[in-house]
Amino acid sequence: TLPKVAWIGLGIMGSPMSENLIKAGYRVTGFTLEQDKLDRLSAAGGTAAGSIAEAVRDADVIITMVPASPQVEAIAYGPEGILENARSGALLVDMSSITPQTSVDLAKAAKDKGVRVLDAPVSGGEAGAIEAVLSIMVGGEQADFDEAGPLLEALGKTIVLCGPHGSGQTVKAANQLIVAVNIQACAEAVVFLEKSGVDLKAALDVLGGGLAGSTVLTRKKDNFLARDFKPGFRIDLHHKDMGIVTDAARNVGAALPVGAVVAQLVASLRAQGDGGLDHSALLRAVERLSGD
Ligand code: NAD
Repeated sequence: TLPKVAWIGLGIMGSPMSENLIKAGYRVTGFTLEQDKLDRLSAAGGTAAGSIAEAVRDADVIITMVPASPQVEAIAYGPEGILENARSGALLVDMSSITPQTSVDLAKAAKDKGVRVLDAPVSGGEAGAIEAVLSIMVGGEQADFDEAGPLLEALGKTIVLCGPHGSGQTVKAANQLIVAVNIQACAEAVVFLEKSGVDLKAALDVLGGGLAGSTVLTRKKDNFLARDFKPGFRIDLHHKDMGIVTDAARNVGAALPVGAVVAQLVASLRAQGDGGLDHSALLRAVERLSGD
């Protein structure tokens, strides 16, 4: 029989991902802070729990998908947390994007409780979550990766063990650097094209077919054309991720000259009250710099 799953964190990503597990036949018990998300889980055939302790008590696999390191620490540690309430032998798969060091520390603390851990952050956005085609970058032990394999295959398409604990997070940090710089390049092109009076849709269509084409350009095209910045992936979260990659790169002596500038532009959007918008709103930062 399939392992029993506990799912903590049913947001933009966690809701559709947990529903894909239910569709694949897993029994999923979930907990999250918003009642409407718990109701959605029940409607999809899962079980809503009243607390983390209740959700994880008899789970074989515990999946977490919360915003950042402080939330992972809040749900993992302490008397009401995952480690204190999970059964010995359980496998904790943290799919949140957090600092590599938090993942390393979590794996160490969990080991004392007999809980195994994988860091397994994802890329592919809300659409990738809904369609179960996420890229999943995993850090941890080979045996645990093999055990989680069938379950991860119900959530994603490209699933790779990148190395020991924290490695998945390091790869995800690189992913976020590439995505931010790519969005920024597209946003600069959009402003340039519009000011030049070129038909933007035609331009983006043809650019998408050449070397300038990218998943970012394809997926964010409609956001740019319609100035629709409903998230998606919130600027607040990308701000968090630019902090992660900037710190991690400094720790190993890797230069990120362009990434550092884009991190500042992401921060400026936040400072101007746009933290809740999709990261394609980098277009706004470029427009402001262009006097619009
Ligand atoms: P979200 O804000 O939509 O959802 C986060 C969920 O975590 C919420 O439902 C909230 O209730 C829950 N949560 C927070 N603290 C909690 C606690 N103490 N106990 C229980 N539940 C708690 O965020 P999201 O967009 O789903 O992102 C989740 C993670 O996935 C982030 O680390 C993000 O960087 C990453 N990510 C997001 C995307 C995307 O496109 N949205 C893509 C890839 C990775």
